Amino acid sequence: MTAEEHTREVLHRVFGYDTFRGEQQQIIEHVVGGGDALVLMPTGGGKSLCYQIPALARDGVGVVISPLIALMQDQVDSLRALGVRADFLNSTLSLDERRAVEATFLAGDLDLLYLAPEGLGVPATQRLLERGRIALFAIDEAHCVSQWGHDFRPDYLGLTVLHERWPTVPRIALTATATPATHAEIALRLNLKEARHFVASFDRPNIQYRIVPKNEPRRQLLDLLRTEHQGDAGIVYCLSRASVDKTAEFLVQQGIPALPYHAGLDAGTRAANQARFLREDGLVMVATIAFGMGIDKPDVRFVAHLDLPKSVEGYYQETGRAGRDGLPSTAWLAYGLQDVVQQRKMIDSSEGDAAHRRTLAAHLDAMLALCETVECRRARLLAYFGETGTPCGNCDTCLAPPEAWDGTVAAQKLLSTVLRLRRERNQRFGAGQSIDILLGKKTDKVAQFDHASLSVFGIGTELRESEWRGVVRQLLAQGLLAVQGEHGTLALTEASGEVLRGTRQVMMRREPERAARPSRGARS
Ligand code: ADP
Ligand code: ZN
Repeated sequence: MTAEEHTREVLHRVFGYDTFRGEQQQIIEHVVGGGDALVLMPTGGGKSLCYQIPALARDGVGVVISPLIALMQDQVDSLRALGVRADFLNSTLSLDERRAVEATFLAGDLDLLYLAPEGLGVPATQRLLERGRIALFAIDEAHCVSQWGHDFRPDYLGLTVLHERWPTVPRIALTATATPATHAEIALRLNLKEARHFVASFDRPNIQYRIVPKNEPRRQLLDLLRTEHQGDAGIVYCLSRASVDKTAEFLVQQGIPALPYHAGLDAGTRAANQARFLREDGLVMVATIAFGMGIDKPDVRFVAHLDLPKSVEGYYQETGRAGRDGLPSTAWLAYGLQDVVQQRKMIDSSEGDAAHRRTLAAHLDAMLALCETVECRRARLLAYFGETGTPCGNCDTCLAPPEAWDGTVAAQKLLSTVLRLRRERNQRFGAGQSIDILLGKKTDKVAQFDHASLSVFGIGTELRESEWRGVVRQLLAQGLLAVQGEHGTLALTEASGEVLRGTRQVMMRREPERAARPSRGARS
């Protein structure tokens, strides 16, 4: 049997599949032949087979480094169900259990051994591995080595030990996070100089991307679920634990089976909720981003974000958990001005040096640009990962192209207001005050600071309040306005001057009218 026939035979006999997907075959042959590989493939692309088959085809045990301790038991169970000899070593094992796994490993009675990255730092584990025969090292979720990424795990930096101590054992690093920068950083930090790179397209054509302005997030979510995803399994992401709890409660009250998941719940509850989500049909998991990495549930029909993700990579990862079975699915995000203010605040008060804060700010800016684009969302998203795409026909801007309008005058009015408010010493005003002034609202705060006497008072009545909030968001997304500090104070940027002087035109995305909703009487 040729090597090619052999891998095909394993694919068929062990995994029950007839053909390889995408570049699986080339990757597998490369690793079986002893080469290092860096594999970038979207979630659901079929990364696991890329190391599982070589582990079966080569002599010795395939050692899989994975940060997903909570999922190891599941992974091992499903491999065993296929007749693959798999086991894991991590901190959840008792001493006896650990001894038993070690003995099996040393006896060579294993095809795959899953290890947590922190385990590798332990000298005893390194000595154990040295006494066995290793077919390959697979480094799963390899982007965890990226220090500026969203899932950084310090233990991943120690994985260079693999190459130092086992220079002849092939290594395959895999990830679904793939900006060109992360990609280069993985190769560098894992010392994968000779590795062949396999980069699959990151397009997920069955996912429909939609981003809407946030007014009443829970109501909007409920509308989405009732009109399009009745009875479907899905994930709802919220930024805070409190908001996870409230949203899950709200959905349950509305008759939608929902479970919470966040790091504040005890481990038992988290594990139980995760297990139910995986095994039962039609459950909605309301979670912080602590939930989801490595979750293999093919029929997640929607991923909804009630808060703005911190980066395009995060957004891509989280939405990528929808539709792994290839069937139509929805990625829906509601975002508002408050998200920007809140995230700016978090960045300003974050630990780390100025360079780190600049990276975080750049991530946020890219996310805002995706939200405010008048172009195809998918093309924008793929462009972020270095791919070119044409309008997809399956995102909100393709399906209902937003009208672009010349927002120069509106921008000038808003920026002038911000400029005037900045002249008041020791006072800090957020977007709300500027908008109230433009609309000529005589609020208490307007009276207190005598803002009705400003020349800009009441000059913006041609737009509704929600439209003004849209103007603020778009100026932020275009770098023509900044938001700072504890109270979300608006501030001008260097580029604001060009708009105020009339040398720069500002095109904006028209706020869609509110989506049709069930009449009030129909609500429970
Ligand atoms: P990833 O780790 O890239 O997110 P997985 O390895 O979990 O993806 O694979 C996603 C799904 O696709 C799994 O259910 C897997 O069994 C299935 N799959 C992988 N490769 C093939 C193939 N060649 N043919 C059919 N199904 C496949
Ligand atoms: Zn599109």
